[in-house]
Amino acid sequence: MDGNNKSLGDLSINFWKREFRCPCKKCKRKKVRVSELLLFKLEMLRVALGNRPIIINSGNRCPEYNANIGGYPNSAHIPNPDGEAADIKIKGVKPIDIGLAAEKIGGLRIGIARTYVHLDVRKPSPSRFWIYENNIIYSAKIENESLLKFYQIIKGK
Ligand SMILES: [Zn+2]
Ligand SMILES: [Zn+2]
Repeated sequence: MDGNNKSLGDLSINFWKREFRCPCKKCKRKKVRVSELLLFKLEMLRVALGNRPIIINSGNRCPEYNANIGGYPNSAHIPNPDGEAADIKIKGVKPIDIGLAAEKIGGLRIGIARTYVHLDVRKPSPSRFWIYENNIIYSAKIENESLLKFYQIIKGK
């Protein structure tokens, strides 16, 4: 590692609480809670994809904000006690390529959207991969071994 690359983030080397804070007004002063395991996986993913910055589209969500944006009631974005999900993007890297790198790292549930990727560290139930396409969520069966295969099936429709 470059000697000038100091550890900076207040959550982990490259991640900051402000990136993961629920964006609603009520949560301005609330504690940001992010799973250590998720942060570790995100750091690994960053390295795997050439150390490009990972942009956090959505980290923590309070139940009210989550409901307002149409999230699942028991979304992994809602801290319980830690937030276990992040919606991410990386400039110049397609969501499916982020997803495939995340699959290699393992231990992540992966949702591929058109402009971002949902990642969380919850157990793969009911599904390990899903794809958002034209307002439909396609969930891969738990026994589905390959994200790429599943992606090709959905995109081939
Ligand atoms: Zn909130
Ligand atoms: Zn998400």
